[in-house]
Amino acid sequence: MIVTIDGPSGAGKTTVSKAVADELGFARLDTGALYRAVGLAARLAGVDADDQAAVAAWLPGLAIDARPQGGAFVVLHDGRDVEPLIRTEEMGAWASKLSAQAAVRQKLLELQRRAALAGDLVCEGRDMGTVVFPAAQAKFFLTARPEVRAARRLAELRPGDPTLTLERVLAEITSRDQRDSSRSQSPLKPAADAVIIDASELSPAQVTAQMVGRVRQ
Ligand code: C5P
Repeated sequence: MIVTIDGPSGAGKTTVSKAVADELGFARLDTGALYRAVGLAARLAGVDADDQAAVAAWLPGLAIDARPQGGAFVVLHDGRDVEPLIRTEEMGAWASKLSAQAAVRQKLLELQRRAALAGDLVCEGRDMGTVVFPAAQAKFFLTARPEVRAARRLAELRPGDPTLTLERVLAEITSRDQRDSSRSQSPLKPAADAVIIDASELSPAQVTAQMVGRVRQ
């Protein structure tokens, strides 16, 4: 069985998808981490994220993988776990720019679909229910007001960067939403058969309970 959780940044997808996967005993795939890993690799390689020809020429040699480990997938670049390096707004912006390119999305498509071959899966991203797993049995689109998402994001990021302000995080979230929703390749939108949940006034536990309840129906 495949459960998809899509939505904009800061809506709580990661927290909730972990809890839903734990409760159901499913594996979990965070596809944002794959796009962030591509962003990290591009920055390390000195590739201009906006230059489509340069990105297309660089992609075939790019070694990104997702290895199952303890109920989740560890994202690897050149065999190394990228997790400690990708959770910054800078990497989010690189991921967002690169993810607008068809060649990048194509490169990650098979990798994402392969993750579902191992067994039941909860996957989170932007186009899980629309493009990657259109036949998934349970689809959710998790959103929240931009101010709420920015406040959550700030709480996560501030320990690493005490100079961050709510205004700056809100501006970054708004521009990332705008880019993710307006791109021609897999724009961020709910699948026609997705259950839309606005988490502005809900705790992660409440959202998790709603999702698990639906899946078990
Ligand atoms: O979810 P997260 O913030 O980690 O995603 C980083 C960026 O990767 C998003 O802003 C989006 O542009 C891109 N992404 C995507 N499709 C996915 C997951 C992430 O385009 N399935």
